[in-house]
Amino acid sequence: MLSVKDVSVEIGPARILDGVSLRIEAGEHVALVGPNGAGKSTLLAVLAGDLAPSRGEATLDGVDLAAWKYLALARHRAVLTQEHRLAFGFRAGEVVAMGRAPWARTPREDDDETVVADALRRTEIEQLRDRVFPTLSGGEKARVSFARILAQETPLVLLDEPTAALDLRHQDQVLAQARRLASAGHAVVTVIHDLSVAAAYADRICVLADGTVAADGTPEEVLRPELIGRVYEHPVDVLHHQGRLLVVPRRLHAVPPLDEGQGPWSAAH
Ligand code: ADP
Ligand code: MG
Repeated sequence: MLSVKDVSVEIGPARILDGVSLRIEAGEHVALVGPNGAGKSTLLAVLAGDLAPSRGEATLDGVDLAAWKYLALARHRAVLTQEHRLAFGFRAGEVVAMGRAPWARTPREDDDETVVADALRRTEIEQLRDRVFPTLSGGEKARVSFARILAQETPLVLLDEPTAALDLRHQDQVLAQARRLASAGHAVVTVIHDLSVAAAYADRICVLADGTVAADGTPEEVLRPELIGRVYEHPVDVLHHQGRLLVVPRRLHAVPPLDEGQGPWSAAH
């Protein structure tokens, strides 16, 4: 369904993506992981058709993303960006209803009310419906934005760190919804930092490092301590727990005791 081949993105002198190839099929949930600055958000923007690659090709259903018309694209893919800039002055319920905009003046408009109600229920934000969006907490904003994505009802769903601000219950809830979308035949790409959560909810994990794909495969294939340790420049242990993989960083930053007369901001020795 969605494919990028040998994609590079250059902004000024910087090469942010370098020869990235990736395919995502309907029914798949792919976790996109990698260190800060690896190029995850940039790749997601290319996959969304919001950023044209400097080289290589990006296609959705076999058609170059650059050739897609705006409205057709909005009916085909929903994008949750990292910042929830959106919607000053709007109420949470209205923000969710914005997800229905691409379906205006189509027969699917008839579903608007049911779909919005369902999205509010599935993200447990019914009680936030009449709250003004900017007054919500970071995590509440994230859940409202995610509900808007659900309401858009697109075959392709792209989520950039949807769980960054969420407590563990809602993190689990959002990833379970992403998983459920994939099981229902949608293609879902989720940028996520927690590798254990990625292992629990994704079919595949794609690891980006320095703008290239360092690994792409099942959680079992990808979550190897040497690979993850190398990419993140931090040693990890990979444990098996209740049939799932847990990636546990080694705690290196245990603070050595201070020398006499040394404050916490003194130069390290
Ligand atoms: P990630 O989402 O993996 O943290 P990004 O895709 O946001 O990484 O960014 C990758 C790298 O490209 C970072 O070093 C970032 O600073 C740089 N970058 C992203 N967008 C731009 C831009 N518009 N101009 C210059 N550098 C950019
Ligand atoms: Mg990012």
